[in-house]
Amino acid sequence: MSGLRLDVVSLVPEAFAPLLGLGVIGRAFAAGIAELHTHNPRDHATDRYRKVDDEPYGGGAGMVLKPEPVFAAFEAIPTCPRRRVLLMSPQGRPLRQADLCRWASTYDQLVLLCGHYEGFDERIRSLADEEVSIGDFVLTGGELPAMTIINGVVRLLPGTVGTPASLDEESHSQLLLEHPHYTRPADFRGMAVPEVLRSGDHGAIARWRAKQQQERTRERRPDLHARWLEQQAQD
Ligand code: SAM
Repeated sequence: MSGLRLDVVSLVPEAFAPLLGLGVIGRAFAAGIAELHTHNPRDHATDRYRKVDDEPYGGGAGMVLKPEPVFAAFEAIPTCPRRRVLLMSPQGRPLRQADLCRWASTYDQLVLLCGHYEGFDERIRSLADEEVSIGDFVLTGGELPAMTIINGVVRLLPGTVGTPASLDEESHSQLLLEHPHYTRPADFRGMAVPEVLRSGDHGAIARWRAKQQQERTRERRPDLHARWLEQQAQD
């Protein structure tokens, strides 16, 4: 079986090269668990200056990504049977771990459209199945959002991470945040590892971790903690 096909439409395709050498993600690409293809709209611009942007109708600051080269780049991409097209946009739905899980488990191809300048010509949005934001802030282009998604999706693919069970226990794979972790030394500059973790009592360790998860989530993410309490009340 071939890996997940990732196609990125971007004016700066070279931005994605570091992903191929990025630890477990880079090894997943090398092993064929995922494959990355980039497509530059500039290669599809037809005028002599290879122009990909233009002034906005109605006036205003900044330039807008033209539809023709983006449509042409998009239409040149081979289509797999189960494909999802994601458009990077600060106006999109905020990215959640559940989205990454859904994309990793449902599709054999993800196409990621990266904007630039003041943004896309509105008609480019018609290419997308989903618009995705990585947070309530604005970056100069969609490359970092696309790389965030690629990293998050590829690490969920079978074979990328050595111990897949660890993925189920993490923050955002469930409502509670993960418990704290410690490794050797037992005492570092007067900061000691909690005694219970060194006790060998697996029941006590599990109870301590569960309590830490609840306290951490209540302090740091009261919104998630409230949803967890609701879930507990329903179960
Ligand atoms: N003028 C646009 C607006 O106000 O919505 C912002 C354009 S931004 C400077 C240029 C491109 O960067 C966007 O088209 C999008 O592809 C990407 N981008 C910027 N911030 C993003 C975010 N938080 N999430 C996803 N993509 C983002």
